[in-house]
Amino acid sequence: MNTRFLKTTIVKPVKKCEIHRAGWLIVNPWHIIKNGYVKIENHIIKEVSKDRISSGCLESDYIDHGTGVLMSPLVNAHTHLELSFFKDKLDMRNGFETWVRKLLELREKTDTKIIKEHAQKSIYELYNSGVLYVGEISSTGITKKILEQSPLLGVWFHEFLGTKLSKEKSTFIDEPGKLHYSVAGHAPHTTSPELLKLKKKQASLKNLPFSIHVSESDAEIKFIKTCKGKWAQFLKERKIDFSFWNLPQKSPVIHLFNHGLLDPLTIMVHVLSSDDQDLEKIVKSGAKVCVCPRSNMNLHGKLPNLEKMLKIGIKPALGTDSLASCASLSIFDEMKYIVNNFNNILPSDLLAMATQYGADALGIGECAGSLEIGKGADMLYISLKAKTETELLEKIIGYEPKKI
Ligand SMILES: [Zn+2]
Repeated sequence: MNTRFLKTTIVKPVKKCEIHRAGWLIVNPWHIIKNGYVKIENHIIKEVSKDRISSGCLESDYIDHGTGVLMSPLVNAHTHLELSFFKDKLDMRNGFETWVRKLLELREKTDTKIIKEHAQKSIYELYNSGVLYVGEISSTGITKKILEQSPLLGVWFHEFLGTKLSKEKSTFIDEPGKLHYSVAGHAPHTTSPELLKLKKKQASLKNLPFSIHVSESDAEIKFIKTCKGKWAQFLKERKIDFSFWNLPQKSPVIHLFNHGLLDPLTIMVHVLSSDDQDLEKIVKSGAKVCVCPRSNMNLHGKLPNLEKMLKIGIKPALGTDSLASCASLSIFDEMKYIVNNFNNILPSDLLAMATQYGADALGIGECAGSLEIGKGADMLYISLKAKTETELLEKIIGYEPKKI
């Protein structure tokens, strides 16, 4: 699939008082204003209106963007920028285990400088495709500085795996309007419950989100349910002792739930092969979900049960995973893929997944994710033309009505 090309600009108000106008203003996916105005004071949204706002600002602080749409910048809630170098270098047709083995082999042989250059390039691709907020996962720490020095915001997660209770110090920062720093556990089949609980506790103490991959591969599920199979073999080869992991368990989701790892500050990434009981536990715990459908299809040949998730009250964020398993980091591309592969997802829900639900998952939903009064004033302008709200949403999510 080709990357969608939409002309986008991230708008960052800098003056004390500014009024912005556009042909359309998406306050949130359920509140859209035709010919909308937004007033910003000290980088906070003070007013949204369908009429010209007159008070306060100087005429020179009035900015008319044109016929397109002003909306919240997009959120890519799950990326691994340190894997950008591996784009088109790993064969995804021979199964997940082979893909992981090849990735680890190649990573060991690759110069850090090259990995950094590719990560840097990806950051600008993200920004130029309307993404301002990311949930970036890094096990090596390589992307921390690069992201810090970039215009992107969101959360940088230092990821841990294995069994060793690392003494390594992680940075935790939770400052509004800045990049946040937290920690992540890799997955229930790669990381001991003890290490996961330690890292989850560290993030919780700072009121920061904790990210973890869950229910992604068949090998993971088989291992959690039986302690056998290809993954058990893989861990043994790497001398990872899983005898004290309290396994087997009914499913990866139940495993995490039983260890008290699921709460509203946990982001469960993928949730690809989960049954009704798993989804109920997720709803009960209030944990967030982030889906990466294109990566799931490439690596596992299947898609998460998104329609069911939305029906029972889960509000999934959208992520792309890395360029090692996905053709682009564009959230416009991810939305279009969902449009083409799911029949019963409302355009408004899909846009919320790409904005508000992503911001909520990253713990920044109170100041980002929509253009509601009181939120931060960073905005996205997309140059397009639409006659109706329906046409506007369809153009953003990539729906193309069939030609008769
Ligand atoms: Zn991932």
